[in-house]
Amino acid sequence: MTGEARIIDGKVLAGEVLDRVRAAVEELKAAHGLVPGLAVVLVGDDPASRVYVRAKGKRTVEAGMRSFEYLLPADATEEELLEKVRALNANPEVHGILVQLPLPSQIDAAKVIDTIDPDKDVDGFHVINAGRLMTGQKALVPCTPRGCVLLARRVREDLTGLEAVIIGRSNIVGKPLGQLLLNENCTVTIAHSRTRDLPEVTRRADLLVAAVGRPEMVRGDWVKPGAIVIDVGINRVPAAEEGRTKLVGDVAFDEVRQVASAITPVPGGVGPMTIAMLLRNTVEAACMQKGLPMPGVLRDV
Ligand code: NDP
Repeated sequence: MTGEARIIDGKVLAGEVLDRVRAAVEELKAAHGLVPGLAVVLVGDDPASRVYVRAKGKRTVEAGMRSFEYLLPADATEEELLEKVRALNANPEVHGILVQLPLPSQIDAAKVIDTIDPDKDVDGFHVINAGRLMTGQKALVPCTPRGCVLLARRVREDLTGLEAVIIGRSNIVGKPLGQLLLNENCTVTIAHSRTRDLPEVTRRADLLVAAVGRPEMVRGDWVKPGAIVIDVGINRVPAAEEGRTKLVGDVAFDEVRQVASAITPVPGGVGPMTIAMLLRNTVEAACMQKGLPMPGVLRDV
């Protein structure tokens, strides 16, 4: 196939999702006096994490929700963080809790995640939510994989029967995405660092998702002509100008766009969808806790 792939614009799609979230929040306020609340806890002062947390707080308020932000010092103990999580579990104004990762080494992240009330676990990382997703029960689903599915469905509403290949088997992206794509009736392969002849595997994919963390690993000749390619990777690499850096994905964009039918850019693809899905999950959590159905405007998002 010649010609250039369609660019799937994650900023535009995320904007549409956020508009719907805002409408859903207005509906919940008007009909039930319910204002969804999201609490974000940051431990330490990692600059990148601070930027994420500030962006999340801003978007939360813009969507009409309550935002609660807590900053614990870098030397906070595990027990101090667990105490904060327990207090948020008990706070009825907080419907979603997110503990920003990574955590300092003295704190066991798995223990923290498993202390979050599963019904407030808007990241969808708790084992209860992982189990619910795996067994087809109502679950809070991790934000990035949910965003990937929406991006793919923007190109093709029905993904039924597609050969989907995901590179990466992490608990936060690859594995939950595999389950979501199974739910979409794809035939799913999850590849990883021990996969034999990876390019041969990826060339089978009608839908290829790269979630690895290796700059531009997926080359043009790894991709089946006409495939949909979703690039989750975020890698900071040196730029052409001396001393500058830039962000690239796990996909060699300029090569792959000559072969694929549609591709997400980095930045501006999967990244913006993650915050939009977080706010969507907060609305879902608030509704679940109040025994309300998800507002109609968000039901297919
Ligand atoms: P992890 O490091 O947890 O997982 C990476 C996966 O890639 C592992 O399963 C690993 O295999 C696999 N892998 C590593 N090297 C190779 C290789 N050479 N060939 C095949 N597979 C390989 O990463 P995450 O899932 O957390 O994140 C992946 C990327 O996505 C990162 O760049 C991250 O920054 C980005 N990300 C972006 C988000 C967004 O909002 N856009 C959100 C979350 C992550 P194995 O299991 O065998 O080690």
